[in-house]
Amino acid sequence: SGTTRPMRILHYVQRSAKCGDVLSVISAIDSFCSKVEWAMNVGDKKGEILDAVVLETRPRYVLELGTYCGYSTMRIARLLPPGARLITIEMNSHYAQVAKELFQHAGLDAQDKSAEKRPAGPTCKVELLLGSSSVLIPQLKKKLDIDKFDLVFIDHWKVSYLPDTRLLEECGLLKSGSVLLADNVTCPGAPDYLEYVRNSPRYRSQYFPSQLEYLQVEDGVEKSVFLG
Ligand code: SAM
Ligand code: MG
Repeated sequence: SGTTRPMRILHYVQRSAKCGDVLSVISAIDSFCSKVEWAMNVGDKKGEILDAVVLETRPRYVLELGTYCGYSTMRIARLLPPGARLITIEMNSHYAQVAKELFQHAGLDAQDKSAEKRPAGPTCKVELLLGSSSVLIPQLKKKLDIDKFDLVFIDHWKVSYLPDTRLLEECGLLKSGSVLLADNVTCPGAPDYLEYVRNSPRYRSQYFPSQLEYLQVEDGVEKSVFLG
């Protein structure tokens, strides 16, 4: 009724989550999406696998493909030290706008000048790029002054997982030890991507079984270490 699901998520967060408290924002989104309306966030179950991979990788430069409302972005951001950088790419301008407002509520907005006057927070800020991954990936080195990514969370449309991975390789954005973490490789699935990372000698790949966000449906994430 005149509103979108991302807007309903945003309004719920603004009503119920503590300002500047990223954990409170994350758990408000989880409770809204498990009790009121399903949404395509990585969710709390697979989110724990994402958290563990972030913590063991200890990345300085992180790229996320597919922001949506920024749920996974916020999960990652809260685990990064202040010197790290987190770039997230979203092609839908309405989703990107909602994500920015959620980052602001959580105190993670890089554009929020009032945040700079506060004492340095425990987490890094989020840099959101609006556009299609296939257009933006070749521009990242110049745009961001970043040479290689330590961690890439792949969670946009499933047909783009493989072509964008090949593009990251071609653009020289991966180094030996870079970790790719791909969501939804079982549901809805990304078979050509899985076939590639599991059979290419350039990757060491591992599946983590779990469940689809907010539902008792089998899903999982694939962690693939680029070997160079
Ligand atoms: N990572 C988010 C989370 O867990 O909270 C969920 C992302 S949602 C599953 C996928 C998003 O990717 C959608 O918002 C969609 O608009 C965006 N998207 C799909 N294909 C894209 C592309 N080629 N470039 C940029 N964004 C894309
Ligand atoms: Mg997903």
